[in-house]
Amino acid sequence: MKILLIGSGGREHALAMALAKSPLCDRLFIAPGNPGTAEHGENRPDLKVGDHATVCDFCRAEEIGLVVVGPEAPLVAGLVDDLAAAGIRAFGPTKAAARLEGSKGFTKELCAEYGIPTAGFARFSGLGPALAHLAAQGAPIVVKADGLAAGKGVVVAETLDQAETAVRSMLAEPGAEIVIEECLFGEEASFFALCDGTRAVPIGTAQDHKRVFDGDRGPNTGGMGAYSPATILTPEIERTVMETIIAPTLAGMRARGTPFTGILYAGLMLTEAGPKLIEYNTRFGDPEAQVLMPRLACDLVPALIAACDGDVSGAEIRFDEHRAALTVVMAAAGYPGTVVRGSTIRGLDAASDDSVIVYQAGTRAEGGRLVADGGRVLAVTGLGESMMTAQARAYAAIARIDWPEGFCRRDIGRRAVAREVA
Ligand code: ATP
Repeated sequence: MKILLIGSGGREHALAMALAKSPLCDRLFIAPGNPGTAEHGENRPDLKVGDHATVCDFCRAEEIGLVVVGPEAPLVAGLVDDLAAAGIRAFGPTKAAARLEGSKGFTKELCAEYGIPTAGFARFSGLGPALAHLAAQGAPIVVKADGLAAGKGVVVAETLDQAETAVRSMLAEPGAEIVIEECLFGEEASFFALCDGTRAVPIGTAQDHKRVFDGDRGPNTGGMGAYSPATILTPEIERTVMETIIAPTLAGMRARGTPFTGILYAGLMLTEAGPKLIEYNTRFGDPEAQVLMPRLACDLVPALIAACDGDVSGAEIRFDEHRAALTVVMAAAGYPGTVVRGSTIRGLDAASDDSVIVYQAGTRAEGGRLVADGGRVLAVTGLGESMMTAQARAYAAIARIDWPEGFCRRDIGRRAVAREVA
């Protein structure tokens, strides 16, 4: 079968490796791809992913048997809807189902209707009622942009002053909406479920590091590192998540006439009262895919096909339980702000071995050199029988990479390693 993978990040490098390994995959195309994915298939930077008619024509001409969509943007743009309408099998949610990621308000309403454990919340579009709500609730409290104000982010306000500033700024945009939430306390973890519209099966756990600097300081990023498994998610907690969060979400989406197919990635807060949903993403995470994929001990392709074809109940998802994976992101100086592109990266071959995979994200091949071409540039994954070994291998590999213009956090997996030693 020929497979087309959409995307160009480190997540897609990890997915490309997993897809190419499948005996079912005869040929893999990646659009647009990056120098890392080119090692596992054919990059097609000429295929404009935003032009759905052209993507459909390409799939027909090449007789593509499966399209796998990596990032969120093409899902929200309805690529899966258009492929499905053209009779092409595509893995990922429709535009309507991707609202679970795209609209915080939509997800919160679904949680309220189905009793899914999450932070208490209220939605506002007017400043007066929002400020009155803040005054009544007190701090700490969480303010999130939705709809037109999205992109202005999430503020976990320690004081009412901070909360008020956030509310004013997010509601400054005409037509903007916000969600004000109860502040939850606990440890965060990520849970992944493979969904066929009706049923779901677990497909791994991870924890990530969002802040740019050591000790979880500095601004939020797309993710500076991650590790899997998240041992804090015990089998019992996993069962609770499946029953109280994932299953009712699928039921709610079906009842709305927009069944969810694809990867449901639940960002959880493990509170004293049990796991609560913070947010959904509707695809694999980046850099979480870089720790999930190398631990997979089964063929990814039949599992994705089972989801597309509407029955994951027989899908066999197995992870190597004796293999921990930890990835450290190397970013260009300045990230998450403005970065300088074009610096040369050397030493990737010397850094990789049986226990280390260097995934490429913001890289570009230029005249025989590999150069940095983005914010997050590499994700260096170490594998080992313990998290401590995986961590040591990732950092030893980083020491062999010659890229003075890059930086990374030095404390990825600190908590997981401490827990292992205790
Ligand atoms: P991303 O998709 O990058 O994770 P986002 O903008 O979709 O972020 P959320 O995931 O909803 O926003 O929140 C970002 C972070 O803010 C969470 O990972 C968590 O650390 C914190 N946070 C969000 N909601 C709450 C809450 N109710 N209580 C405490 N912390 C919260």
